Amino acid sequence: MTHRTGLNKSTVLSLVDELSELGLISESTAVSDGSRGRPSAIVQLNSENVVTVVSEIAVDFARIAVVGLGGIVMQSIDVDVNPRAVGPTATAQALGEAGVNLIVPGSAVVAAATAVHGVVSTEGHLTTAPNLDWRNLDLGQLARPFLPRDIPVFFGNDADLGALGEHRRGVARDVEGLLYLSAERGIGGGLIRGGELQQGIHGHATEVGHFVVRRAGSRCSCGSKGCLETEIGESALLRKAGRRSSAGRVVELAREGDSAAQRAVADVASWLGFAIGNLVNLLDPGMTVAGGFLSDIVELAGDTVRRESEAVALVTEAIDIRASALNRDAALVGAAELAFDHILQDPAAIALRSPIVRETA
Ligand SMILES: [Zn+2]
Repeated sequence: MTHRTGLNKSTVLSLVDELSELGLISESTAVSDGSRGRPSAIVQLNSENVVTVVSEIAVDFARIAVVGLGGIVMQSIDVDVNPRAVGPTATAQALGEAGVNLIVPGSAVVAAATAVHGVVSTEGHLTTAPNLDWRNLDLGQLARPFLPRDIPVFFGNDADLGALGEHRRGVARDVEGLLYLSAERGIGGGLIRGGELQQGIHGHATEVGHFVVRRAGSRCSCGSKGCLETEIGESALLRKAGRRSSAGRVVELAREGDSAAQRAVADVASWLGFAIGNLVNLLDPGMTVAGGFLSDIVELAGDTVRRESEAVALVTEAIDIRASALNRDAALVGAAELAFDHILQDPAAIALRSPIVRETA
């Protein structure tokens, strides 16, 4: 450890003591490997004690959760707020108030992270979020008053983080590359290649919801016409089913045998397959994971999705479509991974920053 960190032995020992006192690590004595000198201690992270507070800001809902190292969602709360209706400041406040009651006793919060349904930098500069109708915001600054002391906060696009979650802790754990497509109100896409998120030059690569599939199609939230979102987003599913409720309700009706809901699901499945086939031609992702209610579409009408994707794919063997394993938690788990990636690059900073450790009740 001294060799790799470049720190001298007494500094390392005092850091280890400090982390150990905080309950973040535990030490055990290693068996001597036969070389001269005292055997080094084996240091292990206590994953259940090292947690992040993560949140998700979608169009009409928000959630906050505590996620431990290793992707374990320890607690989560659906926050009573509609981000699009109340705007960014009130959303940050509602999340902050909900977060106060969340922290697991005895654990140390080392970072916070937020998944947002929009184009956002890691530092929290939001360029645009068409479905939320938010633009040019500094989310890092908005979040700061609601965060405990100086813990770092990170941001990411919800679909990018969904992709990261599925790649590290979900259905795509052992694949080198994956394309994640998710639908709630809008459509999001995230691409991972060689273990890394591919976000493009300006950070909005794979915004596949706004890929135009019908030039004379319906008006989209982004101002354009005939985007993929207008054929497979929540409003599209509702329009096709002749309903005004929610995607979840249409899925439920389809499962119960309602024929209008089943036709709507089949039509969305067909467009989803068409999109996946084209995206596989473009990106060759290895695996495509469907999240949000698209996961239900794949479960209900997977044959249609596969048939339509194979009809446009150049190499049909390249098509591997799966339903999300993490479901509603995908973006939250991905947000925690993003935060831990930053923290673990500099674990000593955890101790130096004196993380917030709640007394055990
Ligand atoms: Zn659009």
